[in-house]
Amino acid sequence: MNESPARILVADDDPRMLDSLRELIAPHGHEVGTAGSGAEAIAMLERRHFDVLLLDLMMPGVNGLEVMDFVNKKGLDVSVIVVSGDTSVDSAIRSLRRGAHDYLRKPYAPEVLIRTLENTLKKRMLERENRTIQGKLQQSEKLYRYMVNSSPDIIYMLDQKGRFTFINARIEKLLGYRPAELIGQHYSMLVPSEDMEEAHYAFNERRTGERASRNVEMRLKCRDRARSPRHFDTNTLPIELSAMGMYVVPEGSANKHYVGTYGVARDITERKHSEEIIRYQAFHDLLTGLPNRALFKDRLKLAIPQARRRDRLLAVMFLDLDRFKVVNDTLGHVRGDELLQLVATRLTGCMREGDTIARVGGDEFMILIPHLKRREDAAQTARKIIGELDRPFMLQGREVFVSTSIGIALCPDHGDNMDVLIRNADIAMYHIKEQGRDGYEFFDERMKVKFSHFLSLETGIRKALEENRFELRYQPLVDTSRATVVGVEALIRWHHPTRGMLAPAEFIPHAEECGLIVPIGNWVLEQACADLKSWREASAQPLRLAINLSALQLAHDEVDSITAMLAAHGIPGDALELELTENVIMKDIDNVVKKLNRLSKHGIRIAIDDFGTGYSSLSYLQKLPIHTIKIDRSFVNDMRSDNTQTSIVNAVIAMARGLGMNLIAEGVETSEQLAHLRALGCEVMQGFLFSEPLPAHELMEALRRGDFVAGLSGRGAA
Ligand code: C2E
Ligand code: CA
Ligand code: CA
Repeated sequence: MNESPARILVADDDPRMLDSLRELIAPHGHEVGTAGSGAEAIAMLERRHFDVLLLDLMMPGVNGLEVMDFVNKKGLDVSVIVVSGDTSVDSAIRSLRRGAHDYLRKPYAPEVLIRTLENTLKKRMLERENRTIQGKLQQSEKLYRYMVNSSPDIIYMLDQKGRFTFINARIEKLLGYRPAELIGQHYSMLVPSEDMEEAHYAFNERRTGERASRNVEMRLKCRDRARSPRHFDTNTLPIELSAMGMYVVPEGSANKHYVGTYGVARDITERKHSEEIIRYQAFHDLLTGLPNRALFKDRLKLAIPQARRRDRLLAVMFLDLDRFKVVNDTLGHVRGDELLQLVATRLTGCMREGDTIARVGGDEFMILIPHLKRREDAAQTARKIIGELDRPFMLQGREVFVSTSIGIALCPDHGDNMDVLIRNADIAMYHIKEQGRDGYEFFDERMKVKFSHFLSLETGIRKALEENRFELRYQPLVDTSRATVVGVEALIRWHHPTRGMLAPAEFIPHAEECGLIVPIGNWVLEQACADLKSWREASAQPLRLAINLSALQLAHDEVDSITAMLAAHGIPGDALELELTENVIMKDIDNVVKKLNRLSKHGIRIAIDDFGTGYSSLSYLQKLPIHTIKIDRSFVNDMRSDNTQTSIVNAVIAMARGLGMNLIAEGVETSEQLAHLRALGCEVMQGFLFSEPLPAHELMEALRRGDFVAGLSGRGAA
């Protein structure tokens, strides 16, 4: 049963004894060495390994007991069987004390000696196996311990009462507690009181498998402030907790027995930070730090009923700088930005706490004053603002003058809902601007007549639909790493009979307001599908078509008409990508989720357009079947190596990657932007650098010539 023969050393000063022992043992397949004295035995043991030593006790010179002392001192792994003529109990005891394995008296029966020898060898083998198994166990335990302790996540176990029975070393890095301090403590000592309810559910998780708690977000308390300088809320750590019940089946029982909870907590500081940045910029203008339109509307919505309850007036002001464009054109972009920042500072200085100033466009601001006693108070504030902005600004050592026009709408006098108030303040502002003077003016119903072109726009759109005056332009989406065009985005234009070619900004918002976006959208879908069909027939290139969808279109039951349109043109679902803005999604989230799920069942892909300018929240993104995120061009535009925009682009890219979504950067105009985006890991791009939106046939020709990717081919595939 041994793989290699056992090595036996026989030590006896009687040569006949040596011979007879060798003859007895060798036929059993063992290798036998002989030593005629104690000294010779020691020399041989030193030279090589033996499994068993058959040792005579009484030898001249170095005796058997001394050989055993040597074996022990050296820690040799040899089993000693004493074969001795000394029949005294005393010598037997002395040799057993020195670790002899067995004790045989001379003369011995040969079969007894062989049996003793084989027993000893067998025992040695078992011991050796045991040792390797134990070694392996220790090894694997060490491995698991290593894995658990070097995990980037906190891994813990709780007993039935919620007390820690195990926690890995990671806890110390993240929360500042040593694992030993926490063993036996209740988990609640780590949970801030505000999060106790969530914690209660997750930490007491008894379910297992699919139904167990997954990724519950909460915070854990850090030991002290000094230890955790990297978290923004320095006292707590945001985590995502997944937990499940642990069960054992006791011997002799058929039932599982709950013994506690096992869980993993992941540090999500980084992700929270990205979300924070994205959320901040979703509600703020990054240049001036002022609230943006979305936040302004949010505040206005809350302020209207409040003002009504307190029986106060509320003022919405629309403010436009009169000579800003001149400054921008003569002194340049950078000075223009500087001027806007200075204006923002002065405006802030004019207002009281509780008022909101928002930057809503290039040189446009909106102001909300939530409670006023009299109309005159609003006028006074407007005069104060005008006075402030009339003073010169210093730019590059030069005095620069801007003046301002302010339109004011009061609630309830000029409207009692958000959109009406904003529109009326806007109209009042245009009214004063048209008269060519700066100053302020309150809204008046009579002003509306002047703006009746808002109305004629609606008639115009109807006519344009009838007369087929809309046209689609297509802009390529370029995969810069593979130097291929992966898709095209359809963008609408209007050949207006008197005003020339109109961009969507001039009529889409209005079409959305009056509902005409639905027929326009149908026209776009039909035309784009027809164009795509002919491209697919003319070329093997698998182009994807991106189409913009408005909120109203989605509210209208579009799913069936979209799938019918695709079927009619023989276009597979996954060749269509619908672009929606976050605001469209958030408007009616429950309904939208249902529709998007139905669309994606047909293979149709969904993209978030203008990402980062709306209400961005990871939690809703995760719930939706979204394939693509389009980074808004304002970020790409302002991207420089060292500013916040870069970190937002970074955050967006990291997030999209984390969610496994495709990324497209919009509005790429320069090769620096291209290089920068690629360095950040965003490879699909759209923008004037590659092409403006082109009429269908021009796009096809350019595609055939490989125009859009000509400059890229040198870069080669990634
Ligand atoms: P969008 O979906 O963000 O479309 C991209 C816009 O950026 C297009 O403006 C495009 O011409 C412009 N653009 C592309 N590359 C660059 C660049 O490198 N630099 C700059 N500065 N701009 C670039 P466009 O065609 O004026 O469309 C404006 C918006 O109108 C679109 O924004 C989209 O939201 C909406 N829109 C366009 N067509 C449709 C449509 O068929 N239906 C609906 N509902 N909305 C549409
Ligand atoms: Ca778009
Ligand atoms: Ca966009």
